[in-house]
Amino acid sequence: MSSLLIKNASAIVTCDEKDTVLENASLLMQDGVITYIGTEPKGADETIDAAGCLVYPGLINTHHHLYQTFSRNLPQVQNMELFDWLTTLYEIWKNLDKDIIYHSSVTGIGELLKAGCTTCFDHHYVFPGGSSDALLDAQFSAARDLGIRMYASRGSMDLSKKDGGLPPDSVVQNVDEILKDSRNAVEKYHNPAPYSMEMVALAPCSPFSASEELYRQSAILARDLGVRLHTHLCETIDEENYTLEKYGKRPLAYMENMDWVGNDVWYAHGIHFNDKEMKFLAQTGTGVAHCPISNMKLSSGICRIPDMLKLNVPVGLAVDGSASNDGSNLLEELRVAFLLHRLNSSKLAPSGYDILKIATNGSARILGRDDIGSLAVGKAGDLFLIRRDRLDLVGADFDVKSMLGTVGFKGAVDYTVVNGRIVVKDGHLVGIDEEKAVRDGKHLVTDYLNR
Ligand SMILES: [Zn+2]
Repeated sequence: MSSLLIKNASAIVTCDEKDTVLENASLLMQDGVITYIGTEPKGADETIDAAGCLVYPGLINTHHHLYQTFSRNLPQVQNMELFDWLTTLYEIWKNLDKDIIYHSSVTGIGELLKAGCTTCFDHHYVFPGGSSDALLDAQFSAARDLGIRMYASRGSMDLSKKDGGLPPDSVVQNVDEILKDSRNAVEKYHNPAPYSMEMVALAPCSPFSASEELYRQSAILARDLGVRLHTHLCETIDEENYTLEKYGKRPLAYMENMDWVGNDVWYAHGIHFNDKEMKFLAQTGTGVAHCPISNMKLSSGICRIPDMLKLNVPVGLAVDGSASNDGSNLLEELRVAFLLHRLNSSKLAPSGYDILKIATNGSARILGRDDIGSLAVGKAGDLFLIRRDRLDLVGADFDVKSMLGTVGFKGAVDYTVVNGRIVVKDGHLVGIDEEKAVRDGKHLVTDYLNR
């Protein structure tokens, strides 16, 4: 048995049901699970002296495209909205291979961990030339090397230009190939046990790149295998016009018709729902991954988070892919979410603490997990530490529950712990040689963009 003690922390913000904040408290993890939180010192194999530190539950990212970390800040797409942005970038993404996936994943996951994120869901849907196995292998390999809790997906696209979709032929597969690869990915990687470090969802990309047949068959397969379903939905008005024109239905009605609603389904973005549709999301327990920075960058619109919270629609926080963010920093996302809804909704906006709870409890809920998202005995040992004695927090840390939203936190956190294991120490990644990762990544991204 291995154990790690967080000793005598200045404050532990638990994000539990009672919104407990413990002062001068310690937290013990044994074999990855929290077994004690309180004021009595305990013995452990390893101890972090947390005097003067704030402890928060690990943040949970519910929508990402790690491969996009190597197509950031490209001048040719900076003034585009989603459809033009995608069609331009597909021409780069069609050159993806396992090395790009490994190193872009290391870069993105590294940034996530350094910003207090302990679980990452990734929506990977570009598989050029039937490269399925190799690409997911590379992604899980990066996740293991860095120590993040990985929730991958077998994403997919089968609707190319010739069939009225958006992507080029070179990046789509047919439904039979996709279903075979999806089953393989679940059988190879998905571990449904509590405290699982590796899970897989099925995730056709979007209504304008996946066919009705692909959506239907994916839902049947996912329910047969007991895994969750994820897709992009209601991201833009262009998408709404597309489903109205092609299928005669608004996006959510189209999804409902294919059995793509329920508490095993969550959508990325969810911006353009009307009142009736939001009530339907709440009734069915269908979740939404809120991605404010990407939505602002691509001028997609503002997700109606205050209304969703009021209706109890399951909502989590996410960075979205790095080509529309253009980073992987969930702490930054948290603050931007706070500010965006202040601007848009004034007194109805969620508080800084409400947003922290979306990024922890809320995100865990839409991933279908009750073992992460708060700090309590029996929960996974996923957390991060910030030293409060730093110039940028002087006078800013009176309300530690709301601080990450209202004030924000810049730079790397001091420690990140996943499954009871230290993965960031003094602001640096423990699992890899960071300097080498920078050198390798820079070399590869230049080669990739020149292909
Ligand atoms: Zn996305």
